[in-house]
Amino acid sequence: MIPIDFTHAPDRESWVDSANQLETDFPIQNLPFAVFHTGDDDRRIGVGIGDQILDLKHCANHGLLAEEFVEPARQDVLNGLMGLGPSQRIELRQAISQLLHVSTEADRSTLEDGLHFQDAVEFSLPCQIHDYTDFYASIFHATNVGSMFRPNNPLLPNYKHIPIGYHGRASSIVVSGTDLVRPVGQKAPAEEGQGPTRSPAALLDYELEVGFYVAQGNRLGTTIPIDQAEQHLFGMCLVNDWSARDLQKWEYQPLGPFLAKSFATTVSPWVVTMEALAPFRVAEYQRPEGDPQPLDYLSSSENSSSGGVDIQLMVSLSSQQMRDRGLPAERLSQTRFTNMYWTIAQILTHHASNGCNLQPGDLMASGTVSGPNRNERGSMIELTWNGDASNPTPGTDRTPLILPTGEERKFLADGDELILHGFCKNEQYRRIGFGQCRGTVQPAI
Ligand code: MN
Repeated sequence: MIPIDFTHAPDRESWVDSANQLETDFPIQNLPFAVFHTGDDDRRIGVGIGDQILDLKHCANHGLLAEEFVEPARQDVLNGLMGLGPSQRIELRQAISQLLHVSTEADRSTLEDGLHFQDAVEFSLPCQIHDYTDFYASIFHATNVGSMFRPNNPLLPNYKHIPIGYHGRASSIVVSGTDLVRPVGQKAPAEEGQGPTRSPAALLDYELEVGFYVAQGNRLGTTIPIDQAEQHLFGMCLVNDWSARDLQKWEYQPLGPFLAKSFATTVSPWVVTMEALAPFRVAEYQRPEGDPQPLDYLSSSENSSSGGVDIQLMVSLSSQQMRDRGLPAERLSQTRFTNMYWTIAQILTHHASNGCNLQPGDLMASGTVSGPNRNERGSMIELTWNGDASNPTPGTDRTPLILPTGEERKFLADGDELILHGFCKNEQYRRIGFGQCRGTVQPAI
C-alpha cells in the first residue's frame, strides 16, 4: 500500500490561495493530473491546484523537475508518467507538492508563469487510451437490472465468483463537456411476427461509474498477482457509460453490449492519483454471510483490509427548460464506491489473469455504482424501474422522475445535461474531489 507522508498532512497549505479554501476539490493534498490547452497553444500536462492548473511542461522546461521526470512531463498525454514505477510516482508527487507548498524554495514568479485558471483552459482526454473495459461490480446494480428482466433469477450464477466485464470501445471515449448525439439503432420487434425497427434510441440512459487507469502494464502471457495489483494502478476518474437501453435489449444476447454503449463514454478530465487516494482506502465490501469467498488468485489480506476506496458520488440532471429558467441542476442520486462487490485490484488482476497484456493508460470502469437504497441508484433505468409504470415487480418505486419544472423523465430527453461529481472525505484528512464529468444530449442526426 502507498504510505501516508507529508503530502497528505491535513494542515499543509499552498501559496495558491484558492487551494486552501475548505470546499475546493483540489487542495494541495490532491494534485490530480489533466491534459489541457489554452487558445492555440499545444496540449500539455497540468496539475490541478485550487481553481488553477499548473503547467507541468513549463515546470520541466524551467528546471523545476528532476531529470527523470522531464521527458514524460513534456508529453501531451499522461502515458509516460503512467509508465513510471511506483516509487517514482511517489517522488513526483512529493516534488510537485513542494513546488506548490506555501513556503516553496522554488522561484515563485517562474511557477506563477505556469499557472492558468481552470475556467480559461480547454481539457482533452488525459491519455491515449489503448483499451477500455467496463465491469459490472455493484451487486445492487446487477440485482436491480437483473430483476427487471429475469424477476425469478436476477443474479446469474457466475456473479459472486468472477468480476463480469465486457470490452468497451476506446475510440469513442470523450472528455467531460463533449456533447453526446443520441444514437440511432435497431430495436426489437414490437409484436410477434413483425421485424425489428430502426430509429433514434428512446430509452437513453446514463451510468454513474468510477474508472481507473493502468500504470505500468504486463507483458503478453504474464499475469499480475493480486498482491502486486495496487502497484499497477495509476489513478481514478469519473465515468459516464451512456447506454441506449432499447438498443441494448435487442442486441445484447448472446455476446453482451455493443452499439448500445459504443456511441460515447464520457470521462472526467482529472485523474486523481492512487497516492492522493491513500488516506481514503478502506476494507473491501463485506460479503453477506453465506456468500462464496473469491478464488485464491482474487484474494489477499491486503485486498481485504484496504482494497476499497471510499468515494462519495453524485449525479445531477439539468434540462434545457431548467437552464432557460435559471434553475440549478437537480440531484438524482448519491451513492458510495464502497458499495462495490469487487475491488479495483481484483478487477485488474482478473483482467490480466489469462495472460492478457495491459498497457499504461488502459481504462477500466467499475460498472454502475448503485447502493442498497433507492436514492443510491446510479442509472435512470433503476431510478424509474425501466420507466415502466405497469411493471408488476413488487416493492419498487416506479414513479417517473419529476423535475422542478414539472417535466417528467423516464429516460433522458434531448437537451438534458448529466453531471457526475465525486469526492473523498473523512475526519482525519483533507477532503479531495474529482471535479465533474458532464455531457449534454443532442438530438439524433
Ligand atoms: Mn457500464
